[in-house]
Amino acid sequence: MIVGLTGGIGSGKTTVAKMFANFKNVAVYIADVEAKKLMNSSEKIKSALIKTFGDQAYKNNTLNRSFIANIVFKNPEKLTVLNAIVHPEVKKHFQEFVLLNQKASYILYENAILFETKNNLFCDIILVVSAPLKTRIERIILRDNTTEAEIINRMKNQWLEDKKILQSNYIIESLSLEKTQNQVNNIHKILTKKSC
Ligand code: ATP
Repeated sequence: MIVGLTGGIGSGKTTVAKMFANFKNVAVYIADVEAKKLMNSSEKIKSALIKTFGDQAYKNNTLNRSFIANIVFKNPEKLTVLNAIVHPEVKKHFQEFVLLNQKASYILYENAILFETKNNLFCDIILVVSAPLKTRIERIILRDNTTEAEIINRMKNQWLEDKKILQSNYIIESLSLEKTQNQVNNIHKILTKKSC
C-alpha cells in the first residue's frame, strides 16, 4: 500500500514523515530529498541539465543549486523543463524503492506537490498536513531566514491547501507536536489494519 503525504510549504510534512519513520515496518520516501540526491548521482539528469542550463549547472561535479534556482525562479518555462528532466527519474527511483520494500506494512511517499505532479494517482490513501497560512509563513521565515514575499512566490507553484484537503483521505493538523503525534498514531493504527 502506498500512502501519499502532502501539504504546502511549512505545513510540517517532513516533521510528520519523521513521526511515521519511527514506526517499525513503515518505509518512508521523501521525494524532495531523493530528487536532490539524484540530481548529483544520475548521469542522465546531469547531462540533460548541462544541455539545458550550460556547464555552470554543475560546479566540481556537484549541482550548482543557486545558479539553477536563479534561472527557474525568473523563468517558469525553464522550471517546467527542469521538472520534466527530474520528475520522471524520481518516479523511476521510487518504483525501485517500492519493489525493494515489499515487506513494509506500507510505504509513505512524501511530496509537497503530490497532486500538482499527478503522483496522487499511484497512491492508495492520501494524507494532507495542514496549518494556517500565517503559521506556515512564520515557520519558514524562522527556518530558512527568508522573506514573506519570497515564500509567497514559492507558494504560487503549489495548489491552495483547501484544494488538497478536498482530495485527501485524512487531514493531519500541525499546530502542536503532541496533537500531531496523536493523530499520526491513530492514522498508523488504521493503516496497519487496512494493510493486513
Ligand atoms: P517544506 O515544504 O518547506 O520543506 P515542511 O512542510 O516539510 O516544509 P517542516 O520542515 O516539517 O515543514 O516544518 C517547518 C517548521 O515548522 C520546522 O521548523 C518545524 O520544526 C516546525 N513544525 C513542524 N510541525 C510542527 C508542529 N506540529 N508544531 C510546531 N512546529 C512545527
